[in-house]
Amino acid sequence: MVFLRDRFGRTVTNVRISVTDRCNFRCSYCMPEEGMQWLQKDKLLSFEEIARFVALVAPLGVHKIRLTGGEPLMRKELHRLIRMLRAIEGVDDIALTTNAFFLKEQARDLIDSGLHRINISLDSLDPRLFAEIARRDYFQQVWEGIEEVERLGLRPIKLNVVLIRGVNDHEIPRFAELARSRGFVVRFIEFMPIGKDDGWTMEKVVPTTEVLQRINAYAPLVPVTRLDHKTPADTYVFADGAGEIGFISSVSQPFCTDCDRVRITSDGKFRTCLFSLHETDLRAMLRGGASDQQIIASITDAIEKKEEGHLINRPGFVRPERTMSQIGG
Ligand code: SAM
Ligand code: SF4
Repeated sequence: MVFLRDRFGRTVTNVRISVTDRCNFRCSYCMPEEGMQWLQKDKLLSFEEIARFVALVAPLGVHKIRLTGGEPLMRKELHRLIRMLRAIEGVDDIALTTNAFFLKEQARDLIDSGLHRINISLDSLDPRLFAEIARRDYFQQVWEGIEEVERLGLRPIKLNVVLIRGVNDHEIPRFAELARSRGFVVRFIEFMPIGKDDGWTMEKVVPTTEVLQRINAYAPLVPVTRLDHKTPADTYVFADGAGEIGFISSVSQPFCTDCDRVRITSDGKFRTCLFSLHETDLRAMLRGGASDQQIIASITDAIEKKEEGHLINRPGFVRPERTMSQIGG
């Protein structure tokens, strides 16, 4: 098999596909309350175009897919896309990252269509603080969505918590307790400078080492994967066996050296890093009559030039023009 390899020897096995830039939340670390410009519907890749892209990269070793956005469940009949991707030979892992607002009504269709795994964003367990962070009073709907996938038996259910110092870091023990009592995998994500008007400063980042200390003081953790940069999330379990916690240390301990992922935006721009300053316009090729070979050549060329790593908190750091919601988180 010919793999997609970059000049640093990393192999791409994983693609994050954004299906929309739109969102019904306004998380303060992600986008402003007003003024977001949404893409016109005809600019979005169709399900058929996405499936063609996946069918081209799957034989080259890309077997893991994550659907994201914006809010992916705002894309009509997302379960249809899951079914189409599921049918592509070589694809063996389809995951979804969602704010869960529409999950209760869609969970059954998503699972029946072949969804393997789910990550749900949940930044506070306090409905009032949740409403402040998301700028929407939707805690109840989100919680019902989480309980629905739990009831339907999808596992693991991962809960993503973006920690912001002085905002929600006092809830670390509550989230740890949730991981212990309910079997959700709680993943603490370091706040990154990738939102629009996100107010990011290094002081607001709660580094993984600190979160670990704070949880250890409450109940001791032991590593499953060590903090060795091999996977985005470093996983720990509680020493007494109850519960699992993940850490995504994008700022304090970047995992770029082992990065195995690429992204495609909802308008069909191929990106080799969340923080790339360069995109390859695959939509133009998909719609312009390009042959499979020409599209594969563009993808391999872009991957060959994949960045060594991001430069957050280093002098050369430049924010990409698009936000995480526009790129696909
Ligand atoms: N709307 C979906 C959701 O929130 O799960 C999917 C898209 S969202 C952009 C994907 C992930 O990016 C979420 O877990 C979100 O918390 C995270 N995210 C967004 N902005 C971030 C930032 N500035 N720093 C760290 N994580 C961020
Ligand atoms: Fe929407 Fe997700 Fe961004 Fe929150 S993090 S505003 S839910 S895209």
